[in-house]
Amino acid sequence: MTPEDFPLILSFVHPEPPAEGRRILPVFLPFSGCRRICLFCNQEAQTGHRREAVPGALERAESRLRDLAARGGAPLEAAFYGGTFTLLGQRDFAACLTFVRRMRREGLIAGARCSTRPDAVAPPVPDLLREAGFTCLELGIQSFSSSALKEAERGYTRETALAACLRARRSGLALGIQLMPGMPGLDLSAAREDVALAASLAPEAARLYPCLVLEGSGLAALWREGGYVPWEEEETIAFLAEACLTFWAAGTRVIRLGLAPQEGLDAAVLAGPRHPALGSRVRGLALARFLEQRLQAAGFSPKTPPRLDLPRSRQGEFWGHRGELAARYARLGIVRENVHWHEGEEFRLSFAATSGKR
Ligand code: SF4
Repeated sequence: MTPEDFPLILSFVHPEPPAEGRRILPVFLPFSGCRRICLFCNQEAQTGHRREAVPGALERAESRLRDLAARGGAPLEAAFYGGTFTLLGQRDFAACLTFVRRMRREGLIAGARCSTRPDAVAPPVPDLLREAGFTCLELGIQSFSSSALKEAERGYTRETALAACLRARRSGLALGIQLMPGMPGLDLSAAREDVALAASLAPEAARLYPCLVLEGSGLAALWREGGYVPWEEEETIAFLAEACLTFWAAGTRVIRLGLAPQEGLDAAVLAGPRHPALGSRVRGLALARFLEQRLQAAGFSPKTPPRLDLPRSRQGEFWGHRGELAARYARLGIVRENVHWHEGEEFRLSFAATSGKR
């Protein structure tokens, strides 16, 4: 038997950093605090919530929290989404901070997070948030490309976006970065640079929202005039899979891929890469690429079929949406007969070495 005949066994876990496991109570404040409406935005379609005065939203959130606590649920994390939280009017902002302090004191929430624009976190905003009990600041960066930001009329530059991320970090808040691949003025290579730069900042979480043309947004008018062409679905999925691998390697969880399903959202999407299973298609492809990279690095040859022992919890993700990845695996000699499932978390690949590399 030559060294080439010895089976190689690779074992590792899924590349995505483990989940925090904390549940969230979203408090949607569509467009609250926004000084102007951004070109691509239609928060009412995106969040499924209509504009509402802040006191009413807080009242509803409190009654929900009390209700959950009465039923013995663990404290949640309050999450203020849908507008520019840190540019709320003084009274509303103070009311939200007081709400968070009070709910924490009463043990109804374990912490809070909010999303805002990077040009709305001047000092002392991050410190005020942290002192009130916020643990995470999510920044709707969308892109670090100054030219794309200009084209999308975002009103800030790469430098502002970077400074905001660093400020959030310095204040001790966990950092969340939201990017919008495919936004006007952003090509594939600039979007890749965005991901690389965002990952280099090692945020705790990333949300990737491929740009969609939503009815009622400024982008809809531009698209109708032929001034904007959205990314194709398959190109977007391939890009997002690559982005997931980059973020995971930096220890960042990708906590959202595409807009969450909301009533009326599909009807509002005029164009763009919207797929009901976008997240699972992306995760499946990311895992496939990760496995391919591991096999290739170990000198695997498709001539000798490998044996795979994989976590049962990843079965759907492995084969992809409606089994779409089966053909891709078959090209490596991986077919259903040589894939085995177990209850653990380990991925084990066994195969004959051809190059002697380990
Ligand atoms: S993208 Fe953000 S800042 Fe712009 S209008 Fe929408 S919620 Fe407001």
